Amino acid sequence: MSQSTAQRMQELEQLLNRYNKEYYENDEPSVPDAEYDKLFRELQELEKQNPDLKSKTSPTAKVGGKPLAKFNTVKHEVPMLSLDNAFSAEEFAAFSKRIGQKLDEVTKVTFCCEPKLDGAAVSLLYESGILVRGATRGDGESGEDITENVKTIRNIPLKLKGDVPDRLEVRGEVVMPIGAFDRFNDKARQQGEKVFANPRNAAAGSLRQLDSRITAKRPLHFYAYSLGLVSEHTVLPDSHYERLQQLAEWGLPVNSEIERVDSVEGCDSYYEKILERRDSLNYDIDGVVFKIDTIALQETLGFVARAPRWAIARKFPAQEQLTIITGVDFQV
Ligand code: NAD
Repeated sequence: MSQSTAQRMQELEQLLNRYNKEYYENDEPSVPDAEYDKLFRELQELEKQNPDLKSKTSPTAKVGGKPLAKFNTVKHEVPMLSLDNAFSAEEFAAFSKRIGQKLDEVTKVTFCCEPKLDGAAVSLLYESGILVRGATRGDGESGEDITENVKTIRNIPLKLKGDVPDRLEVRGEVVMPIGAFDRFNDKARQQGEKVFANPRNAAAGSLRQLDSRITAKRPLHFYAYSLGLVSEHTVLPDSHYERLQQLAEWGLPVNSEIERVDSVEGCDSYYEKILERRDSLNYDIDGVVFKIDTIALQETLGFVARAPRWAIARKFPAQEQLTIITGVDFQV
């Protein structure tokens, strides 16, 4: 094995670890996502070709970043994972082929198609229908306790409606709408304060404030997209799409662009349609997510290290411009 491959892998690991810290822990990326994704792919490829050189602590097997010590830590009873990415129609076709081989019935697979919201993942725990805890994803195993902060987000219900399970953990994304983000940065610039690099970092930074009065002033919006922990013996619909409808009936906000399709071609059309609509949406998205809709099939497929096998994010072409962040210190 050439020395230079091992060195390159080490170099990539160090770079990705640094970028992860800037992005997940400080909410202050120094490189665009496309650059990060390129290096991540390069490391993944080298690890595939040289499995004996793969480090046990490789960033390709990790989710997110460590919870910040200044917050109480919440242990996720069901881990909060990431998503695998497809960067082209061919990569998506390869995903559906893999699924087909695993299930041996690809023609019957139905997909739930969702916008990939570019914000911060949160977990909301409801007990007897009352919101009792909010947490960030953190490193997937443990996140930060941001209960008081999520309670300030207007479209997050403090109390659910109807016949709700005793314990219900709802997962979703908190985003800062684009118009609000622009207004926030304009004002910060005028006042000589630090601006956010993009709406994603604005949402993540706003959620991770020690003083919830600061979060309350930030225009944040939540969309539910999955369930985590649910009380035993709860009867839920057996498809992901119908579970989202159920969440909406309980009063949780669910994105209106979500659709169900029954073929790979249907997924491709959904991708094209949402890509076209991207600029007219008032929140940032960086792709679409395709999820196998039938829960039993999801369970058959299971998970790999950092992502479910039954879902994939098909990313849009890079669009991001990093806003240069100047001088003034900024508390997250
Ligand atoms: P990801 O963005 O690749 O995908 C997983 C996340 O998607 C979930 O945790 C969830 O928060 C989100 N999501 C949005 N809509 C969803 C939906 N409908 N259903 C399910 N999940 C949905 O997640 P990640 O692991 O946090 O981040 C990896 C990406 O972050 C990289 O590909 C890169 O683009 C970016 N990143 C950039 C830097 C940088 O320095 N620029 C550093 C680290 C990561």
